[in-house]
Amino acid sequence: MSRILVVGASAAGLAAVETLRREGYDGTVTLVGDESHAFYDRPPLSKQILASQWEPGKLALRPPADLDALGLDLRLGTAATRLDLAGRTVHLADGTELPYDGLIVATGVRPRRLPGEGAHVLRTLGDALVLRDRLRRGSRLAVVGAGFLGSEAAAVARGLGAEVVLVEPAPVPLAHAVGAEVGRVLTQAHLDHGVDLRTGVAVVEAGAGGVRLADGELIDADEVLVAVGSVPNTDWLQGSGLTVADGLVCDEFSAAAPGVYGAGDVARWHNPLFGVEMRIEHRTNAAEQGMAAARNLLRPEARKPFAPVPYFWSDQYDMKIQAYGYLRGHDEVTVVDGDLTAGRFVAAYRTGDHLAGALAVGMPPKVLMSWRRMVAARAAWSDAVPSTASVVA
Ligand SMILES: Cc1cc2nc3c(=O)[nH]c(=O)nc-3n(C[C@H](O)[C@H](O)[C@H](O)COP(=O)(O)OP(=O)(O)OC[C@H]3O[C@@H](n4cnc5c(N)ncnc54)[C@H](O)[C@@H]3O)c2cc1C
Repeated sequence: MSRILVVGASAAGLAAVETLRREGYDGTVTLVGDESHAFYDRPPLSKQILASQWEPGKLALRPPADLDALGLDLRLGTAATRLDLAGRTVHLADGTELPYDGLIVATGVRPRRLPGEGAHVLRTLGDALVLRDRLRRGSRLAVVGAGFLGSEAAAVARGLGAEVVLVEPAPVPLAHAVGAEVGRVLTQAHLDHGVDLRTGVAVVEAGAGGVRLADGELIDADEVLVAVGSVPNTDWLQGSGLTVADGLVCDEFSAAAPGVYGAGDVARWHNPLFGVEMRIEHRTNAAEQGMAAARNLLRPEARKPFAPVPYFWSDQYDMKIQAYGYLRGHDEVTVVDGDLTAGRFVAAYRTGDHLAGALAVGMPPKVLMSWRRMVAARAAWSDAVPSTASVVA
């Protein structure tokens, strides 16, 4: 293999190209990215950047010298537009055709939008800088979607003194992700900080000037942020013969076809640890899957399944939320440490007979490590969770 192409110049793409070099690959590595700023970290966008605590330079994932040392054929500011799988060639928007022997797809996701013009989204550095310039004491921000992203932005905006309306179609924010009781606890923080929270209301239009609800009510706002989930960047793969279904579909090795791997937010793969197909939009997963994809591409004879325990964190107000495992579709949630009402707790999640994951709020990171180990070991629920623990959902 002498030509490896990685499409997507962010966390997953960077981890992939670094791994290729670390593993001794000395052929051509071409990295294509459609953004002109590349290799910056996204989690601080809705935290330190929006709060003006950091300037953009602090987001760089690597210093320039480290990138130079990788010896990349770097093609930034141009998108991949088509994949010819049989001909092993990727076509770019600028007309370039790039032949490859191995390909890693790391094109991430983009924000889902709603009808209307002039609302903000929050995915890129540019998005964050525009929104932060508009947020000030007394300005009115409407946030559509009380998921982790919308919740973080609402928290920062309140911290800056903006008036915030947070509109969420589900009756309990985050219930699908963390369960209704934990969702309620996380939601309480918005109420405690003076957010006008509207749950169970559908938004039909979001644009400059406000948000229109399904019942016709108009919520006026100076700025509107739409944070209602994302869409995998797979358009350029349509018609290629790869399977695309809410992400690039990959097997347990993260392979989508011979010599083609997926990594990061764009990849839907079979995680053998949990025995389910998942697509994860977490920063740590992007790096881990980028590494795994690169190793498996280089050494097909020694491929290893990509079987991580997913990890995410979120910062809202003074709360640090952290979770290990795969909480979606859980059957039961039990508080195993602390107290839900005190906002300092560890909750364990059961799926079937197994411990599926654990989520902590306001706890030091090491508290979760033993839970992570038990999830990785596929611990039986009855072994992991004392029968005296209190079931909350
Ligand atoms: C505001 C914000 C806050 C977040 N906070 C957290 C957090 O607290 N904790 C956490 O775990 N995760 C968080 N995340 C998620 C985390 O940032 C992502 O999981 C991670 O960035 C995914 O990396 P990736 O490389 O897979 O994709 P991306 O970072 O999306 O990168 C994909 C790159 O590919 C480019 N691209 C797309 N299509 C093409 C194409 N056709 N040709 C060329 N290039 C293309 C994109 O423009 C982009 O630069 C946050 C995300 C955002 C946006």
